[in-house]
Amino acid sequence: MSGTPTPITLNLAAPTRGARGKPPRHFVDLTPEERVEAVTALGEQPFRAKQLATHYFTHLTADPAAMTDLPMATRDKLVEDLFPRLLTPTRTLTADGGTTVKTLWHLFDDVKVESVLMRYPNRATLCVSSQAGCGMACPFCATGQLGLTRNLSTAEIVEQVRSAGRSLADGELPGGPTRLTNLVFMGMGEPLANYKAVIETVRRLVAPTPDGFGMSARNIVVSTVGLVPAIDKLIKEGIPVTLAVSMHAPDDELRDELVPINTRWSVDETLDAAHRYFEATGRRVSIEYALIRDINDHAWRADLLGEKLNARGRGWVHCNPIPLNPTPGSKWTASDPAVEREFVERLRAHGIPTTIRDTRGSDIDGACGQLAAEEEG
Ligand code: SAH
Repeated sequence: MSGTPTPITLNLAAPTRGARGKPPRHFVDLTPEERVEAVTALGEQPFRAKQLATHYFTHLTADPAAMTDLPMATRDKLVEDLFPRLLTPTRTLTADGGTTVKTLWHLFDDVKVESVLMRYPNRATLCVSSQAGCGMACPFCATGQLGLTRNLSTAEIVEQVRSAGRSLADGELPGGPTRLTNLVFMGMGEPLANYKAVIETVRRLVAPTPDGFGMSARNIVVSTVGLVPAIDKLIKEGIPVTLAVSMHAPDDELRDELVPINTRWSVDETLDAAHRYFEATGRRVSIEYALIRDINDHAWRADLLGEKLNARGRGWVHCNPIPLNPTPGSKWTASDPAVEREFVERLRAHGIPTTIRDTRGSDIDGACGQLAAEEEG
């Protein structure tokens, strides 16, 4: 022992902007029981938790001014402690006559993510981000080029949902006030690589009000590159969300390149897991396939995909090819329309229900695979 005192470094700077760490605790991160505990810890009556939940999940608000059933001092105290601001909108872009809205959010630590709201004649779909950046490194995807910055918390994901719901309820999109009906984990990030926060988000989405938004599980799509153990874990949750698997190639040689995690779980292992998901939940799995000119759009690949899907059963999948949205600087581009048609026809000839996915918002970089949260300046 030298007896030399250990140098102590004090960092008194408040960990706000630029700091990496956990987002502040939010009401939504807590279970209903924990919400009661948090409220009573602040010296308030337990039933206040249910009132707060009703404001949040039913009225889609965290604004104390709207909580008129709580005494003024109580709401201010509870909101200040339990509803820290997690998302700050810094830019919104609209397309399709205002029916597509992309929002760029700054998180508490200045990290940026995006979400995209799309209104259709009889549904409204939100595409949420589950991570800032993504670690999966798919070379055709804008987010994949960023690498992973960090996982989002449950509340950071759910806040994207509440905000979209609020905006629809307020009639901010053309067509009058409406509700959010569908949610897809197809924004930034690999949802199954942030499993805990994503499954907690799903629980908040499907829980009946006032503990959650009361959405239908079938209207929630979890899209994954194919993290096989996480798919098996999802099966055990017993929440029949729709699973989408990003295939993009039916052969390991090409998929190793397009979806690098394929070197860990092969095409066959991934399809087996997808099929187990169908068997367990009865939910038809979506197979996603970005059609990239002269890379993966060959007729023989459509045949091979059809064969591999049929080898596992009938009526268990739906194919969702999408013309590639080229990302800036990419050497790749979308398939020729005639090639795309042929690809679809081949799959259908194998008896696979196939529909081309829509590319809404591509002019505002709000379409599939384009979310990169770039900001000028
Ligand atoms: N990480 C998840 C979800 C995010 S991406 C996943 O990979 O499934 C949602 C979908 O958009 C995925 O199928 C993804 O492969 C696809 N995608 C990514 N980049 C794309 C692009 N440039 N053009 C078309 N689709 C793309």
